[in-house]
Amino acid sequence: MHNVTLIKGDGIGPAIVDTAVKIIDATGVEINWEQAEAGMGAYEKHGTPLPDTTVASIEKNRVAYKGPLTTPMGKGFRSINVELRKHFDLYANVRPARTWAGVTTPFKDIDIVVVRENTEGLYSGIEHYVGRDQRAAEAIKIITRDGCDRIIEYAFKYARDNNRKKVTVVHKANILKLTCGMFLEAGKEIAKNYPDIEYDQKIVDAVCMHMVTDPHQFDVIVTTNLFGDILSDLAAGLVGGLGLIPGANIGADAALFEAVHGSAPDIAGKNLANPSAVILAGIMMLNYLGETEAAARIQNALETVIEEGKQVTRDLNPDGVSTTAMGDAIIAAL
Ligand code: NAD
Repeated sequence: MHNVTLIKGDGIGPAIVDTAVKIIDATGVEINWEQAEAGMGAYEKHGTPLPDTTVASIEKNRVAYKGPLTTPMGKGFRSINVELRKHFDLYANVRPARTWAGVTTPFKDIDIVVVRENTEGLYSGIEHYVGRDQRAAEAIKIITRDGCDRIIEYAFKYARDNNRKKVTVVHKANILKLTCGMFLEAGKEIAKNYPDIEYDQKIVDAVCMHMVTDPHQFDVIVTTNLFGDILSDLAAGLVGGLGLIPGANIGADAALFEAVHGSAPDIAGKNLANPSAVILAGIMMLNYLGETEAAARIQNALETVIEEGKQVTRDLNPDGVSTTAMGDAIIAAL
């Protein structure tokens, strides 16, 4: 029996997480889901977006499965996603994007894994006003050599363990010579320990262009926090949208699995959201828990349903079905 903290989240979160949990339970894997709250819903109910009981639950279980959490824009509380990643030191954010039979995309056979540093850099949101009249503000990007080393080491080890051929270190070291320069330096050094993996490095703006003109040159991409956030959405766009991209947040002794997308307020409450991304995050979690057979069964069932193209949500087929109907089709295909 595995103990997993379950956070359903905001917006489309409860609908897609309920669907995914039903599918995972249908495999017969024994998981004790310990429900906890976070995000806007928790804030409205308890006056805090991250109740202590939620942190305590993850501290105990060391594995969490979560739906997206809403973060207010420009004001209000800071991102609970960022806080959880920092609190549990979940330094590696692994975001795989690949094309699917049954989903029409501009390119075929794309298979890119973005490994994003998850605890430091500009995305940390360390900001303050400069001067008294609040007409200037500053964001601080802190990069440490230890932080660079461990994420780049993670990416190369991930590549080796998962039979990948190449790691591209993505940076902006021509302009950010100290911070991105340190990241690039760590990349060059660590690559020497992995002669079996091809090493490449590229500037982030060039990567954006190459990803939409020649995406097959990319295999594993490792990059800093903000660049990784942006590039993984770009990768999502290449393979059929955000509904298909999962994310694993991995630390030395804890892990949190979620979709890459957010709470999608524009389609919340309509039973329209694609549950695939959070299901794929569930597959990553099952593999992490050693439940590889159940993970493979769900993967096959999902591939069958998506390839058939009928019992899928409307982001994949305008004549498609609801979130729950897609979930039921996946269970039938298990
Ligand atoms: P979003 O990812 O929620 O939505 C972007 C677009 O993609 C929308 O048009 C939405 O309808 C569509 N989309 C997203 N998921 C989908 C799915 N499963 N099926 C079909 N279509 C889907 O991004 P946003 O609108 O910029 O952000 C909304 C909120 O989510 C914000 O508060 C943001 O902070 C939060 N957010 C949370 C996470 C997280 O919890 N990890 C990640 C990203 C954004």
